[in-house]
Amino acid sequence: MGTMITPRSGTEAAPALRTLPGDEVRQVMWRFSERYDLQMLVQSARSAARGPVARLVAGGARNSHDWTEEKDKLLSVFDEAGLTSLGAETADGGLVDGPKNLALALAAFEMAWVDGGAATGGMAGHLALAPIHERGTPEQKKLYASRTMPLKPGEDRKAWRGAFALTEPLPYVGVDTNTLSGKLSVASWAPGQEPMLHVEKRGRFITNMGFANFVTAAVDSGDARIKGSCMVILEEGDKGTFDRGAPTRKLVHQLSSTNDPVFSLEVPASRIVGGYTVKDGVIIPNHDHSEVIAAVFRRTRVTVGLMTAAKLLSAVEPVIRYGRGRFRGGEMGTPGTPRYDLGLQQREDVLHRLVDIWATGEAAASMGFTAARLFDDFERIEHRKEQIFAERKITSGRAQFKLMRELEPKAVEYVKLAAQPPAQRDEQRFAALEADPLVQFVVMDALANVLCPATKLWNTGHGANMMREAVSLMGGYGITEDCPGFLGQKWMDSQLEATYEGPEAVQRRQLTATMTNEVFLAQVQQWVLELRRIGDRRPGTGACALGSAMELWLWTIRHLLDAKDAAGKPLYHERRQGVTFPLADALCWLIASRLQILDLIALEEKGPENPALAEALPGFVGFFSDLCHVQAAHAAGEVGRICAELVHGYNQHPRWEVECSGCSGDAVDALESLMPGYGACARALTDVVENDGSHQPKAGPCVKFTGLEGFVRLRSKLDGCLTGSRLAKDRAAQALTQVMIPEALDYPM
Ligand SMILES: Cc1cc2nc3c(=O)[nH]c(=O)nc-3n(C[C@H](O)[C@H](O)[C@H](O)COP(=O)(O)OP(=O)(O)OC[C@H]3O[C@@H](n4cnc5c(N)ncnc54)[C@H](O)[C@@H]3O)c2cc1C
Repeated sequence: MGTMITPRSGTEAAPALRTLPGDEVRQVMWRFSERYDLQMLVQSARSAARGPVARLVAGGARNSHDWTEEKDKLLSVFDEAGLTSLGAETADGGLVDGPKNLALALAAFEMAWVDGGAATGGMAGHLALAPIHERGTPEQKKLYASRTMPLKPGEDRKAWRGAFALTEPLPYVGVDTNTLSGKLSVASWAPGQEPMLHVEKRGRFITNMGFANFVTAAVDSGDARIKGSCMVILEEGDKGTFDRGAPTRKLVHQLSSTNDPVFSLEVPASRIVGGYTVKDGVIIPNHDHSEVIAAVFRRTRVTVGLMTAAKLLSAVEPVIRYGRGRFRGGEMGTPGTPRYDLGLQQREDVLHRLVDIWATGEAAASMGFTAARLFDDFERIEHRKEQIFAERKITSGRAQFKLMRELEPKAVEYVKLAAQPPAQRDEQRFAALEADPLVQFVVMDALANVLCPATKLWNTGHGANMMREAVSLMGGYGITEDCPGFLGQKWMDSQLEATYEGPEAVQRRQLTATMTNEVFLAQVQQWVLELRRIGDRRPGTGACALGSAMELWLWTIRHLLDAKDAAGKPLYHERRQGVTFPLADALCWLIASRLQILDLIALEEKGPENPALAEALPGFVGFFSDLCHVQAAHAAGEVGRICAELVHGYNQHPRWEVECSGCSGDAVDALESLMPGYGACARALTDVVENDGSHQPKAGPCVKFTGLEGFVRLRSKLDGCLTGSRLAKDRAAQALTQVMIPEALDYPM
């Protein structure tokens, strides 16, 4: 790490946090301390990122959107670092065996720590292969996996690179993926022969297109002899036009290649991803394009979310260094004075804002890595589910869907039993449900359907806002090319991460549908209990406030699912994005904060197993607890605000009704003028005013609420749970003045 610099004043408290967290801490928190293969991958990706990639950025390669020779050299850097072959098993030249979601997530995180464009470039080949990996025929999988493998020493062949083409020029595919203009028609079809197809596809903003040799493209049928849409594989050597098009004039991610290509090609029907059948002279693709892209994005969006998390965490060190060193040099300060030693860190706001940035980065990373691990586990259970369907010959999508729906009550039962202490539950029943792969699939599926869009939405969207905060703490430097840590570029880059692979609206739309699933809601209900238990044992984590906020959210979603607005129209409806979208946002805050707390607990419980950590562990645990508390309080505040707006905001009048037998008319008039519209009960209004909105009647049965008592009670409970959160922030801020940081960043500026 090199020489450490630490400020010399402000030593009144023992340093809670001695150094910034290193690999030992992260391996425990993100649960890969037992995975030597992943640890090696992290080192490999880091060398590429902090070496050749950082040098390119520092040298100004981002000042052009063209795909230059020097940028092209990055492709071999990715190959050598093992990023290109990350999808392969070790026997085939890959670095990691088994599911690869966590591996891809860690690699992208390392790359994005330095540059989001390089991270995207490193991952885009996997995106191109993903349709084939998820839904391709065995032959397609084998062929394109082998073609895309980097060359082994002595091998004489071309290593293929791929691109994924869904988005089309305006007015076609963007957020709405059903408005495909790309068309597939039959070019020729000799009797008994494989049909030859004609593909017309134009792409917009297609990554890797400056050099890709093959493209997985979404197209619709333009011919009565082809049914529906599909994805099709296009190759550079196919007959016709394979025009890479003009480079996109990007303001972001300039270390990846992006073009607007034009394709007019003839391909054999065997290029339809996942194959096809022929019925009555019509080609029926086995998978339509929506199904394929849903399967692809389900995993790849988690990786994107982690890119923004990396940016936030990478900002901590440069911001601390800049703040501390702000007044050093010249005649401005003398070593040993607070001005010299602490610089801007003398100012509370500078520290508090950095605490917020750091806490957000932690929560984002915790959510993203949990999602990546979940998808690794899910892959295994999904595979088992497919086997069972095949054994039972349940082939049609409709039959599979019906069976899954029928299993939901069992899944809810399992979730409830899993949360109970073994001594108090029916163990036999629990064991049976746990051993049932289909029940397990339904439980995990419900969670994955929320966790993926939540990671993409919150990490990138809220993350982009917080990157702006990081940039602001660097003053004018923040918005120059010279900003240490490339924070200005990272701010802009995070906006792209919030946009590609589906902007925030797409994720919110998905959450609107998936967060009302009863199997998911049953899990949230259990999380409330879990957080209460954590809050009892570790009050310093903010788990109590978070549990209260989750309860409030649950109350609100149940209420909104039934409620109508003042005009009698239902509130929870896919077209009513003013209701569903904020509720989705609120959920993301809750999930991210909960997972941050769970990672802290993992560190506390598993950290002692690593002797290298032993001494520093209490400092890390204490500091991360404070960050959890800060984040939980922030999440609770957001959730309280959003839920209150939604619950009250669609009513014209307060929903509580009052009955009073003993108030004087004068008092009623006086209070009515103070709080117009609140009805006409002096005693009730006095209670409202005096109890600061808690609405607990002081004097007998004067007040009768209709419907919203539960909300009002939970909301006031939530506010009460915020106790201590600002003290936690003060402690975390103090730690930021004490923590040692290396003398210089370990990548060039
Ligand atoms: C650098 C870069 C690289 C890219 N790489 C690829 C790639 O490799 N392959 C590929 O296929 N695509 C790629 N894209 C395209 C990217 O995925 C799309 O830009 C993105 O999906 C949004 O589509 P759009 O730009 O048409 O936005 P639009 O569809 O025009 O949406 C614009 C905005 O309108 C609002 N909106 C739209 N629809 C709704 C709705 N139903 N409800 C609520 N709000 C809505 C949202 O705020 C949304 O952000 C890339 C883009 C860029 C910039």
